[in-house]
Amino acid sequence: MIKNAICTQAEYCPTTHWDERPEQTTISLLVVHNISLPPNEFGGDYIQYFFTGCLDPKLHPYFASIYQMRVSAHCLIKRDGQIVQFVPFDKRAWHAGVSSFQGVNRCNDFSIGIELEGADDVAYTQTQYQSLSTLTQELIQDYPAITLGRIVGHNDIAPGRKTDPGIAFDWPQYRQMI
Ligand SMILES: [Zn+2]
Repeated sequence: MIKNAICTQAEYCPTTHWDERPEQTTISLLVVHNISLPPNEFGGDYIQYFFTGCLDPKLHPYFASIYQMRVSAHCLIKRDGQIVQFVPFDKRAWHAGVSSFQGVNRCNDFSIGIELEGADDVAYTQTQYQSLSTLTQELIQDYPAITLGRIVGHNDIAPGRKTDPGIAFDWPQYRQMI
C-alpha cells in the first residue's frame, strides 16, 4: 500500500539525494534497474550507504571510485524481497541519468526508479519478482499514467550507456505477474 507517496511495506531510509519534480509533472514511467555493491556481490548494506552518501571509500577499491556520486532511486528490492525506500514517489530521485523515453529527455523528471539488488547475468530471486510486481501494481493504482507500455529497463532509456536490469531479468514473467 502507498500512503503519502511512501510504500507502507518498505523500510524507509531517507536520503538527501533527491529534489522536486518540475511543476505539473505527471509521473508516467517506471524504470527497472539493477545494482550490487561491490559489483556482483549481494548482501550487506552498501547500497543503502551509497544512496545516502555514506559509502566508506576505504572498504573496497570500487567504492573509492563511486562514493562521491550523488545518486538514488525511489526503492531498492533486496535479494530477500525486502523493499527499502529512499525517496517519496512524488519527489525526483536521481537514478536515470542522461536518458530519453519516446523523445522526452531527463526521465528522472517523470519516472519512478526501482533498483533490484542484482547483476545483469544473474537470475533474480522469486521473492524479488513478487515484491516488484506487488509494488508495481500499487504504483499503477496511484499513478495511472504508468501504463504497461511505460514500464521499462534502464537500458531502454539510456541505450549504449546502460545495460541494466540485464539479460537475466525475466520481462515476460514480470509482466505476467503485474
Ligand atoms: Zn540503472
